Amino acid sequence: MRATAVRLAWLSGLAMPYVIGDPCIGTTDQSCIDVCPVDCIVPVGRMLVIHPDDCIDCGACVPVCPVEAIVPDTELPPAWAPFVAINAAVVDGIEAVNECLDLHLAHSDTA
Ligand code: SF4
Ligand code: SF4
Repeated sequence: MRATAVRLAWLSGLAMPYVIGDPCIGTTDQSCIDVCPVDCIVPVGRMLVIHPDDCIDCGACVPVCPVEAIVPDTELPPAWAPFVAINAAVVDGIEAVNECLDLHLAHSDTA
């Protein structure tokens, strides 16, 4: 399954400079897209994610997010750890992101 493959790729050291986390889910504001100089922020339906291969690590998106959903991977709250894989899944397409997000939300609902 692709979601599992992406998660394993991250665990083996996939680079992921900035990550969009849980507060973005269901937020319709898309201010981050407007300021990203390389257009690497991708809407996937319920949230937006950052393409890890294209992000240049500039941090411009961080201050414009009204819900503080964007953080460097080095400052990721532990509860947001699954969002590294959720963001990284965009290398396999939007469907792969949503597979990862569904897995995460299902696990969260039963935790
Ligand atoms: S850190 Fe910069 S390049 Fe990366 S997503 Fe944010 S605005 Fe775009
Ligand atoms: S600005 Fe923040 S809440 Fe809005 S789409 Fe971007 S990451 Fe999500």
